[in-house]
Amino acid sequence: MTPRVRFAPSPTGFFHVGSARTSLFNWLFARRHGGTFVLRIEDTDTERNRDEWRQGILDALTWLGLDWDEGPTLQSDNLADHRAAVEALWEEGYLYACDCTRQQIDERAAATGRPGYDGYCRTRELERGPRTALRFRMPDEGATTIEDLVRGSVTFPHEAIGDFVVMRPSGVVLYPLANLVDDRRARITHVIRGEDLLPTTPKQVLMWEALNHCAGQECVDLPAYAHLPMLVNEQRKKLSKRKDPVALESYRDQGYLPAAMVNYLALLGWSPKGGEIAERAQLIDQFDLSEVSRSPAFFDVKKLTHLNGEYLRAMAPDAFIGACRPWVHPDPAGWRPSAVPPWSPEHFDAGIFARAVPLIQTRVTTLAEVPAMVAFLFGDEVAFDAEAVATVLTDDPRGRVVLAVALERFAEVDFTAASLHDALVEIGEGVGLPLRRAQAPVRVAVTGTRVGPPLFESLELLGRQRTLDRLRAALTRVS
Ligand code: GLU
Repeated sequence: MTPRVRFAPSPTGFFHVGSARTSLFNWLFARRHGGTFVLRIEDTDTERNRDEWRQGILDALTWLGLDWDEGPTLQSDNLADHRAAVEALWEEGYLYACDCTRQQIDERAAATGRPGYDGYCRTRELERGPRTALRFRMPDEGATTIEDLVRGSVTFPHEAIGDFVVMRPSGVVLYPLANLVDDRRARITHVIRGEDLLPTTPKQVLMWEALNHCAGQECVDLPAYAHLPMLVNEQRKKLSKRKDPVALESYRDQGYLPAAMVNYLALLGWSPKGGEIAERAQLIDQFDLSEVSRSPAFFDVKKLTHLNGEYLRAMAPDAFIGACRPWVHPDPAGWRPSAVPPWSPEHFDAGIFARAVPLIQTRVTTLAEVPAMVAFLFGDEVAFDAEAVATVLTDDPRGRVVLAVALERFAEVDFTAASLHDALVEIGEGVGLPLRRAQAPVRVAVTGTRVGPPLFESLELLGRQRTLDRLRAALTRVS
């Protein structure tokens, strides 16, 4: 039997990196075993759903290259099945009606010191009505054991679980049942999801088995379960939606490559054999659920950034140029990052940019760093870093001499990186500055900052006229 897995996100917020990891592990498992990857949007929480978040899920999966074989199906299209499951469980006596309010439950729990629902309505045999919820009657004793493919054998004593609500008085069927009814219908063989859902699993197993015994319900094999380790931050705390950078969209916006992101996500709880850098095909080839770790995985943005830099450096120049496009010359009709290039679109020159690529490709770790590196080529005006201007020009008379002499010499020399280099060595010697320090005033005058791509190649790209204009303007500025 080939496996059928599903990714079942709820569109109630930004696409979380944890969801991205879950979707990737499902996808890798399906691709590794020639199985089917089903995408199901669990959209029944109408108060918290938003269309843009639903679209965000599809966009994120598409960006990551995680293609689905079935779906996206919507949980809300399956409401009749959820209701039918409730009726079947009711008919067979697995459920009972309960009219306790939250307040009553809390008061009793406070009085007895035992949290959770105390089974108050279990034997009251209430009629169903507009004010009653339906609760699942837990077996009186015993335990449910799950043979989790990641966590091994996990046992949940029934008395610790308590009778839980499957349908609210409003008629809304809650997540644990709706989710498993959909899994039954889709004949899911492996449920691979985050560890936060482990406590729900015994409830789902009991309901699944109960449904198998209900008239009018099909008998469906219980799926295997695999609960993936939690993602934690540097303090080893669960990633927080508010404090940690968890929105996958923001990584796209900052110029992380999907290939690097996929590679990094794969390392969150698992490690490919041949080393950490492993492209999609290798990940598929090696993925093994039984090797997934039980320990929490540190979501380390520094490591992701480092990996992204490695992927950027390994790209063929043309691919790198293509990847940079939304940052340097966005297509108005296509996807674009939130930051706009610091120049007018008509000043962008694709030929010059292509020539600048060898100077910058090895120096950036994200695509969002690219515009600042080449802004001196396309910017309408030099954006001066005040601190740099003060240090190397205003406060250092030798810096101004370097500029004045360079203005003369650069007008005469061959305007190539090599001749510019030799000329500046001499200029530096004339004022008693080593080349490194003689470069600083020129760089600040021309690019506005003290850091950037190699200076002489940059000047060559900028051309004689613009270089001289900028040297002159900087001199005027500080004189
Ligand atoms: N919609 C649920 C969630 O996003 C799905 C849980 C599951 O995979 O079973 O948490």
